[in-house]
Amino acid sequence: MPTIVPYTYEKKEEKSVYFTSFVKGMKVLIATQKPFAKQAVDGIVEILEGAGHTVVRLEKYTESEQLLAAVADVDALIVRSDKVTAEVMAAAPNLKIVVRAGAGYDNVDCATAKERGIVVMNTPGQNSNAVAELALAMMIFMSRNCFTPGTGCEVKGKTLAIHAYGNVGRLVGLKGKALGMNVIAYDPFVADNAVFENDGVERVESIEELYRRADFLSLHIPATPQTKGSIGYQLVMSMPKGATLVNTARKEVIDEAGLCRALAEREDLKYVSDVAPDCNDDMCQSFGKRVFSTPKKMGAETAEANINAGLAAARQIVDYFATGCTKFQVNR
Ligand code: NAD
Repeated sequence: MPTIVPYTYEKKEEKSVYFTSFVKGMKVLIATQKPFAKQAVDGIVEILEGAGHTVVRLEKYTESEQLLAAVADVDALIVRSDKVTAEVMAAAPNLKIVVRAGAGYDNVDCATAKERGIVVMNTPGQNSNAVAELALAMMIFMSRNCFTPGTGCEVKGKTLAIHAYGNVGRLVGLKGKALGMNVIAYDPFVADNAVFENDGVERVESIEELYRRADFLSLHIPATPQTKGSIGYQLVMSMPKGATLVNTARKEVIDEAGLCRALAEREDLKYVSDVAPDCNDDMCQSFGKRVFSTPKKMGAETAEANINAGLAAARQIVDYFATGCTKFQVNR
């Protein structure tokens, strides 16, 4: 079970197989098409320069060539949703570590990084609260007719089903309980039943049961080859009357054709998503207020999450170069 990581995480001494004994004087690039908040950048620079490293910044870049040029002599890279492809890594012969300031790391080519001996990390838990709050807000928004006149319904007493009980899923569950919801969850990779028991959340053993019982289904699976396109017609059709599917994970985990077919056949179902599906225009036209998506991904777009993730990325790089700590490595 991934733990909810506090703002200042515990330093854990783990030696990476890639680790050699460099300590100071590394060149770290912050490459962000969508820049961090000023407070975050200032904090990142302070942490890295305080540890004896040099920081360079490439912000609001528009062409991939700009990134290719900027990585030419850097040892470490901090990114947000920026794509770190095989081409980027080939252009960065000194690159030793990439930290994705955020949870999902599907924008980094982890396999190529592994081949090249580049450590890839994310900063789990740093933006979870922001995403969890958005998920709950989306549920209430859909329950209240997208804040337009008409009789809505309350979330209290409804069954909130959490698909994947990681950092975000768990917080959604706990907040749902505070709203008086009946919370159930499915995550086959959480080994310890006590995680669910301690939270007062019912663990269900099958994905089918999860969807069959969900008045609100909150999706928190990562986008992986196994999960992409995995939520489609059958699962959505199995949801109870009036159910809402809430997606603050990734649009790629949805089989959009299957979802549209289910929404067309079942006029009681709703879909709300953080970032528009590819077929958003068609969906809005066909299903009106039964669907809503944010124009840009905004789950992690809070000042707090922005700063937390950036500072955590800087600290992880300092620790990596100082001690070889690879606690948050995702490409072992
Ligand atoms: P996490 O790594 O803490 O948790 C992911 C959970 O998914 C883990 O508990 C894991 O066991 C479970 N899981 C993996 N594969 C599964 C499967 N096939 N079936 C069921 N469970 C499975 O990640 P998190 O911080 O909770 O974030 C979850 C996802 O949310 C991220 O991968 C990311 O794609 C997305 N996210 C979106 C935003 C946003 O801005 N909307 C922000 C952060 C994260």
